[in-house]
Amino acid sequence: MHARLGRYLRAAGYDTAIAAGGLEDRALISQAVTEGRVLLTGDRHILSHRASRETEVIILPPNGLDGSAEALMTFLPLNWLMAPFSRCLIDNTPLRPAGDEDIRRIPVDARAFGDRINVCPECRRVYWPGSHFKRMRRKLETWQAASPEVDG
Ligand SMILES: [Zn+2]
Repeated sequence: MHARLGRYLRAAGYDTAIAAGGLEDRALISQAVTEGRVLLTGDRHILSHRASRETEVIILPPNGLDGSAEALMTFLPLNWLMAPFSRCLIDNTPLRPAGDEDIRRIPVDARAFGDRINVCPECRRVYWPGSHFKRMRRKLETWQAASPEVDG
């Protein structure tokens, strides 16, 4: 339900699992407990499972991306600029500097980013700070500026 927010958490550098659609509540809770995760969901029914008491559950009503991010900040001391773009947005794997063979697979104009080009060792997706990256980064900066932790 909050998959898009999950991708932004990854963009900020947080280790974030995004549940596959149709996963049962019990499986979801069990994964959160096993992996020591805070469970973010829009589904209040999850609290009716006894096992949900074994993990921290945050209920975020569906409130749009900005609204959900703002609500989440009231529960967790997030730093949206903790380690920007250090994880694969698709599978959460920490990125590594791209090698020559990875760089050959991206558009010529993107190759100018040089050592700011990273690759996911899992899915081989290549990341560079282009326009999509900049749009996401601006959002992270906006959220961070609104964060109650910003003065600390
Ligand atoms: Zn990946």
